[in-house]
Amino acid sequence: MANSTTVPVSTVYGPVSSWRYGRSLGIDPIGVVSTCSFNCVYCQLGEIEQITSDRQVYIPTAQILEELKGFAPWDVDVITLSGSGEPTLAVNLGEILREIKQLTHRPTLVLTNATLLHDPTVRSQLAFADRVSVKMDAVSPEGLRRVNRPDSQVNFSQLWAGIEQFCAEYPGDLGIQTMILSAWDEQAKAEYIRQIKAIKPTEVQLNTPSRPKPVKRQLDGRGNHSGSEDRPYEVRQFKCVSQAVLQALAQEIQTQTGVRVRTVHSN
Ligand code: SF4
Repeated sequence: MANSTTVPVSTVYGPVSSWRYGRSLGIDPIGVVSTCSFNCVYCQLGEIEQITSDRQVYIPTAQILEELKGFAPWDVDVITLSGSGEPTLAVNLGEILREIKQLTHRPTLVLTNATLLHDPTVRSQLAFADRVSVKMDAVSPEGLRRVNRPDSQVNFSQLWAGIEQFCAEYPGDLGIQTMILSAWDEQAKAEYIRQIKAIKPTEVQLNTPSRPKPVKRQLDGRGNHSGSEDRPYEVRQFKCVSQAVLQALAQEIQTQTGVRVRTVHSN
């Protein structure tokens, strides 16, 4: 594949520090070629190399477990499935989550873009995670096209129905993660608040793209970087919304929905 590194790469990385979840050990169930059903304009992996909604085994569960054993005693707050794309594309997701739990006894977290939540098998596999963080950036089909640039199989109404269904069923700790690229108008705010009231997550996490986007695929995009850190490759820095704008939006959502809202500036 173009632009991919050819050396063997560990499927376990970190620990990285997350403002949302603390000290986190990362698990990459996707591997060397970045693969996702979205190609978000701000993606820290760079432009996604393989845009697809098809599920398959990308990394065998046994390989992940073997590499995870090298990180014992797993002195972290959480073990997070994210990595080089959309983790629910891994058809062995449920098995990975079960086996990680059995090995480490640590809380598990999946970061998902929600595109496969309409699939009952995916929902049942995600139920093995202690926490799930669901991406919800767009409140309209146009926003989805513009910001998340999805695979052709993804459509807004199915995406939204999947989120609703999952939120109704999932018994664990459920976060909604939203990337704010510019100040929202009143209509966008009202629609978002309506959606949050409907799905009642445990919390809402508002972010802004403080981390630069590599122009080309970079494996270390799986980790965590501050915006000011020097990188040995070309990056694109987004203009972030101000802390004041983000905090005001958080306050309004929290007041109107009763759901706890945290922002990248909260900690
Ligand atoms: S969903 Fe995540 S991995 Fe996929 S393109 Fe968006 S930011 Fe990147």
